[in-house]
Amino acid sequence: MASTIEYRTCPFCEATCGLELHLNANKVTLVRGDRDDVFSQGFLCPKGTAFGHLEDDPDRLRTPQIRDRTTGQWRSVDWPEAFAAIEKGLAPILADGDRNAVAMYLGNPNVHSLSMLIYNRVLIKGLGSENIYSASTVDQVPKQVSSGLLFGSSLTVPIPDVDRTDYLLILGANPFVSNGSLCTAPDLPGRLRALIKRGGQMVVVDPRRTKTAEEASEHLFIRPGTDAYFLFALVNVLFAENLVNLGRLSDHSIGLDEVRSLADEFTPEAVEEICRIDAETISRVARELSRAKRAAVYARIGTCVQEFGTLASWLVDVINVLTGNLDREGGAMFPNPAAGGSRPDAKSGPGRGVSFGRRQSRVRGCPEIYGEFPVACLAEEITTPGSGQVRALITVAGNPAVSTPDSDVLNQALASLDFMVSVDIYRNETTRHADVILPAPSLLARSHYDIAFYQLSIRNIANYSPALVPLADHEMPEWEVLLRLGAIVSGLGSEVDPAALDDALATMFIERSIQRADSPISHLTVEEVLQHLGQRRGPDRILDLMLRTGPYGDVFTGDGGLTLDQLEDNPHGIDFGPLQPRVPEVLRTPSGKIELAPEPIVADVDRLSSALSQYKNYELVLIGRRDLRSNNSWMHNIKILVKGKDRCTLQMHPEDATRIGIQSGQVVRVISRVGELEVAAEVTDSLMPGVVSLPHGWGHSGDETQMAVAESRAGVNSNILTDGSLLDPLSGNAVLNGIPVEVSLVS
Ligand code: SF4
Repeated sequence: MASTIEYRTCPFCEATCGLELHLNANKVTLVRGDRDDVFSQGFLCPKGTAFGHLEDDPDRLRTPQIRDRTTGQWRSVDWPEAFAAIEKGLAPILADGDRNAVAMYLGNPNVHSLSMLIYNRVLIKGLGSENIYSASTVDQVPKQVSSGLLFGSSLTVPIPDVDRTDYLLILGANPFVSNGSLCTAPDLPGRLRALIKRGGQMVVVDPRRTKTAEEASEHLFIRPGTDAYFLFALVNVLFAENLVNLGRLSDHSIGLDEVRSLADEFTPEAVEEICRIDAETISRVARELSRAKRAAVYARIGTCVQEFGTLASWLVDVINVLTGNLDREGGAMFPNPAAGGSRPDAKSGPGRGVSFGRRQSRVRGCPEIYGEFPVACLAEEITTPGSGQVRALITVAGNPAVSTPDSDVLNQALASLDFMVSVDIYRNETTRHADVILPAPSLLARSHYDIAFYQLSIRNIANYSPALVPLADHEMPEWEVLLRLGAIVSGLGSEVDPAALDDALATMFIERSIQRADSPISHLTVEEVLQHLGQRRGPDRILDLMLRTGPYGDVFTGDGGLTLDQLEDNPHGIDFGPLQPRVPEVLRTPSGKIELAPEPIVADVDRLSSALSQYKNYELVLIGRRDLRSNNSWMHNIKILVKGKDRCTLQMHPEDATRIGIQSGQVVRVISRVGELEVAAEVTDSLMPGVVSLPHGWGHSGDETQMAVAESRAGVNSNILTDGSLLDPLSGNAVLNGIPVEVSLVS
């Protein structure tokens, strides 16, 4: 059979690169970067080249699996048997009348899946449980909380306009390795090099001299967990030296005086020792930011996974506002995505804003955040008896047993569940505890559109990848799996007609779209819209609705505006151009303004202030790190991505290594308050003294899992050391950086 060339978007990280896939007999024989892709223009990282390897991985689950609890044996079953087993397992728990007894966890791959983003909502709604958890509270939610409070929506996240800026201050991010996070930009390394080449400056603040720091104009080491102090000191200098200039935003912002007074005590001199960045350098960076023609501050995971994650995330955008760089070319801007953005005639004005804390977790009393509880609370909700105890769990595309704090405790908790069902492509450290695992179909048999990442993109882009091959007999579309699960947990049972449920869901989406205050299709009926949407079903039908009613859509007039058909005719994507100013239309706060000093943030500054005078100086603290060839734990079963030298090492500074008597390659014991592990040391001056680093996502036990490659390169799980009792209280995000540890040589 002759080979064919097809194009689709890489689903492995946030960069949304275009892939050129060479297929023979429905198998991937070669992967290249798509040179005609309107966004990535041929860029590809090693993970993208592994597309075919994931497809061919013999460990990838292809049929539903059921575990015999008595023997521990797994067997492949057909779909009806799997759903019948789930109904049998969940029904008695739900029949007890306590919906909270069934919890749900959503892993990171959910945001890369069109089906999951749309149809998980059905499952969550059908379940009706308060016990919803996700990977968001591992590394991201502080940014969503601060954005929600500042701008009125968790999805309104300012993105650095890297292609047009002159000065970029980066904290806690390593885009030369991650390719960007909460900043969708294929070939972000190339774009950052271009910034420096055109005479701009990139300043990186990080406890580790990362690859990004190596390429930067300047790198400042900072003590882990102190970003909020550093950022507050920048704010202090901006006010003290009269460098504040909001420009156009002064008419659209409130709370400036409160910010000024909050920043009063955080002078560069007050924080220099804690941050380990001298006061003069802090003042200089503030001046550079204010004087640059176009500048942006961008911060990511490192600033989120710390005790003051929400404050640090808030301060990033406060500085962007104070320097007049928010919502202007070359600053930090708001994308207007084709699916979910605003039409040109959208009205501005007060919105509903965001609200949190509508309920508290049962055991620890942590406030709910955007409909979820912190995942660090999950284990105690399973193990603590009483009304509302979690007895069953549904996981969708996640491995919390490895990726969330205090892993040993969660592992034991998962083993004690009465019932567990997982939607996953692997039997991993989490899904090994399941009674039933439901697999996803081949990547080639799914359509793809990055609803989430085009909301975070440095250009307004739309690119759709249709399914390239038909479903195999043993495969079921993800959206149908989720609909069927939703039917079971809502009491409709396992023998439902998914097509009818899908029609009902589409109708609900259409009704909402018609009823929206500024709906461009308010003159149409549901039936008329359904007719326009034609034969498409599942997520593609809903995507078409979103695109056609979005900022570039045809609103069913056939006027040449965007439709899904049009995207299918443009396999390299459509570029709607660079980001445009969106304030005030983008704001959804109750005041209709940028609320610079929201009450929950102001209240939390006291905590930061108290910690300033009581700062504990530990001899060694742990931070994480990311690797170019690894995203999350599931990528460790792809041989070409894990081959080569062992990357799961404890990096430490030569001064610390000498003091303790450790050399590279020697095995060390690392002990934290909650756990201990043994790992090979790697002595390197890329870390600042007093800081050690382990990568995340490793620690593949091999115990009842089916990931042979990962087991052969097991590594250690850094989350055995991270402390589930430590959270950023405003967001409930786990504290993964700055964990006090002791390190000793294993004799
Ligand atoms: S950078 Fe991300 S999207 Fe691009 S090829 Fe690599 S994994 Fe895929």
